[in-house]
Order: sequence, then structure tokens, then C-alpha cells
Amino acid sequence: MFAPLAGRSVIVTGGSRGIGRGMAMRFAAAGCRVLVAARDRTAAEATAAEIVAAGGTALGLAVDVADEAATKAMTAAAEAHFGGIDILCANAGIFPSARLGQMTPGDFDQVIATNLRGTFLAVDACLPAMRRAGRGRIVVTSSITGPVTGYPGWAHYGASKAGQLGFVRTAAIELAADGITINAVMPGNILTEGLIGNGPDYLRRMEAAIPMGRLGSVADVANAALFFASDEAAWITGQTLVVDGGQILPE
Ligand code: NDP
Repeated sequence: MFAPLAGRSVIVTGGSRGIGRGMAMRFAAAGCRVLVAARDRTAAEATAAEIVAAGGTALGLAVDVADEAATKAMTAAAEAHFGGIDILCANAGIFPSARLGQMTPGDFDQVIATNLRGTFLAVDACLPAMRRAGRGRIVVTSSITGPVTGYPGWAHYGASKAGQLGFVRTAAIELAADGITINAVMPGNILTEGLIGNGPDYLRRMEAAIPMGRLGSVADVANAALFFASDEAAWITGQTLVVDGGQILPE
């Protein structure tokens, strides 16, 4: 039996839709107070409103994780409304496609700024509150693409997702003495708006490549994040959990 997370405060970046929304809903269902962050304020507020309508506590905020001042304002809002930050889900990410030759330095920079630098900025902004509390849980959404596999059009994306794991491993060592753990979930193909944007051919091919015979749901990933955030995972840090229906197993 897992200890309840009720009353913990959680920030979910990219919480307005897709995997982040799944995380926001899952943590809210576990009794957590949730700050939903995304660039689109209306969408972030809509997710927060759904949580509130279901009897939970949530706040939606416009945040661009590539913007240092915005990530600082995000954590200030969480502290002001919830009195602290127990859990950060550093999940916001983009995956535009551009093959080498077409990919511009601007394309590359934008993906790194959001996925990798944005992870650093969100984590960094949470550290003062977590250090003061002497505890914290950070869950980073990486991917199998980059750390394990490659995919045409995603050289920048793969670099950002592999980079997140390098960040997590060293951060885990540095933050251990503060009682803060940091781990990464590595989703395979999860049915979200972002993934659907790759087109029906992509979705069909990916589904066929998954031994468990279906694309992942946002709940599949949210449950893994919930585990890393739980008290039962207190002695697990710097680790990864692949959530992919077995996709990376076949030769
Ligand atoms: P979606 O496109 O469905 O959702 C992305 C979320 O991130 C939205 O809430 C979006 O809101 C937000 N976001 C994007 N850029 C920023 C930014 N600069 N600042 C703040 N929020 C931002 O994507 P997914 O749910 O599919 O992906 C979420 C994460 O999971 C990403 O890190 C992705 O790399 C990872 N992932 C996804 C997989 C999948 O199959 N879906 C597989 C492996 C990893 P807004 O646009 O309003 O900012």
C-alpha cells in the first residue's frame, strides 16, 4: 500500500494537454494541489478549472519554460498559493520535425531552449523552496528517442532528450544531500495531440512496433511519475523508467 500524497503541492510544466495534463489529473486525483503551467494561459487555466470542478485545488499559469523570469514567477506563485513546492514534473517539450539539411540553427536552438534549458530552468527555480523544506521530488519527462533510439527529423529533439538524462544524473548527486530526488520517465509513443501531429502513417507504424499492441496513454506515463514522486521511491534517484509497451525490446 502506497502512502498518500494528499496535500502535496505539485508543479507540472506543459500541464495543459497531453502527458502533462495526464500528470496534473493523476496528481490531483491523489489529493495534491497542482500548478498547471503552459504558454497558453487559457489552456492552462482550463485544465486547472477541471481539477477544481472535480473538487481539487489547482492554479493555471502562463509560463514559457525557456524564459528564466517566467519559471521564477511560476515557483513564486506555487509558494504563494500552496505554501511550498513538494514535486516538480518538468514535462514541457516540443517535437517539431526537420531533417538535417533542412534544420536551421534556429530550429535546433528552439528545441534545446524548450526541452533541455527549460528543464534546467524549471528545476533551478524550484530548488530554493525544496532546499528550505529539506525535501523534494523532481520527475523529468525525457523520451526513448535520443537516449535509446533515433528517428528521422528529430536530431535536435533526440539531443535534447539525451541531454536531459545527463542533467538528471549529475543533479541527482548534487541534490541528494538536500533530500531531493530527481528521476526521469522515458515514454515511448503516447497518444497526445503532439504525437497525432506526426500523422496517421506515423501512428500506424509505431503501433505495429509496440509488442503490447497499442500506443501508450497519458495515464501510463503519469502513473510512473507518481511512483517517482511517492514516499516509497525515497531512495531512488538519478534513474530512468521506460514506459513504452516494450517498443525498445525487439532487435
Ligand atoms: P503536447 O504537445 O501534447 O503537449 C505539450 C505541452 O507542453 C503543452 O501543455 C504545451 O502547452 C507545453 N509547452 C510546450 N512548450 C512549452 C514552453 N516553452 N513552456 C511551457 N510549456 C510548453 O506534447 P506531449 O504531451 O506529447 O509531450 C509532453 C512531453 O513528453 C514532452 O517533453 C515530450 O518530449 C515528451 N514525450 C512525449 C511522447 C509522446 O509520444 N507523446 C514520447 C516521449 C516523450 P503550450 O503550447 O501552451 O505551451
